[in-house]
Amino acid sequence: MRKYDIPESVIFFDKTIDLSSKLIQILKNYQYQDPLFICGANSYRELGEEIFKQCKSILIDSELIIAPEINKESIRNDLAQEYLKSQSPIIGIGGGKILDFAKYLSFRTGRTFISIPSNAAHDGIFSPISVIAGFSLGSKMPEHLMISLNTLEKAPLISIQAGIGDLIANFTAINDCYISQAFKDENAEIGVREQCQEAINLAYQGSIELIDLIYASRSNDGSVAESMKPNLELLYSTKFLRQFIRSLVLSGMAMYYANNSSPCSGSEHMISHAIDAIYGHGVKAAHGIQVAIASYFVYPQQLEVLKKINQSPERIINFEELFNLLKLPKSFQEIDISNDELNYVLALAPKTRANKFSILNLKDNRLKISN
Ligand SMILES: [Zn+2]
Repeated sequence: MRKYDIPESVIFFDKTIDLSSKLIQILKNYQYQDPLFICGANSYRELGEEIFKQCKSILIDSELIIAPEINKESIRNDLAQEYLKSQSPIIGIGGGKILDFAKYLSFRTGRTFISIPSNAAHDGIFSPISVIAGFSLGSKMPEHLMISLNTLEKAPLISIQAGIGDLIANFTAINDCYISQAFKDENAEIGVREQCQEAINLAYQGSIELIDLIYASRSNDGSVAESMKPNLELLYSTKFLRQFIRSLVLSGMAMYYANNSSPCSGSEHMISHAIDAIYGHGVKAAHGIQVAIASYFVYPQQLEVLKKINQSPERIINFEELFNLLKLPKSFQEIDISNDELNYVLALAPKTRANKFSILNLKDNRLKISN
């Protein structure tokens, strides 16, 4: 299988390199004087203020919007028109919602987009998709992604666990691609057609590289109990964080090649979307945690289906061990969803992305609940 690398436009900063001066250098290369900064409120305090002030001292026409209101209205045509006056880059600084909004605005106005995430809790930091007000919208790849080790080291553990969860989801999303192809649903966005295999390979490579690094950190004293102990210190090591960003970027590139989110978003994402629709976004758990639990739930059942259609996955992942090492929740009960409620979630899940085909659509294979 061809091995992919991430583009040069992804800049990972060691502690010695100053993000602001690198950004100013990039902006000067575009020869624009009036970049537009869009920041989240917390991200502005923690990261954006310093960057904006330094840019403003040199590029005096730099503009700033802090915590814009993000809803269906704010993405309507006429609002985007307001930002058509300038063609200079838009710089998003913040979490998923802010980045998705800034990315979408750049897409709508044809402006360059520079992504500066305040955490890495999902694979949207470098993807061509924006989720706004619960809708997944076609957007654009950021021209640059700038992320500093300083920022990641300050990120709460749960955001890193969530980001890893979003990468674990690639394994089940890929299985759904194979299931979709086998059952030849006309409406499926993606089968394993030749042009999509590259996207699947990218999504797989991103996730397996990270998982292998986690497995390699296992305690080596031979006992099973020791080897299953969580190793959360690993998650803040420079080696891990570098790979983590690389994996999220490869995942975003997979969506770009597929021209949709399928290699990274299958039944596990639909289950998470259903949870959000029923209880509210982020009420039960972070996106990446929800998709991780849903992956843990669907993976063994997908393996049974794959066996029936003679399609074996590249490698069988030991989810039990992986979830122990990462201290990730394994059941919906742990995020306060009972078995009865889960039935309702599973019934709603395929309707959240009706254009996709997954294990959830197999009528003769209703998912077994055994929490
Ligand atoms: Zn996701």
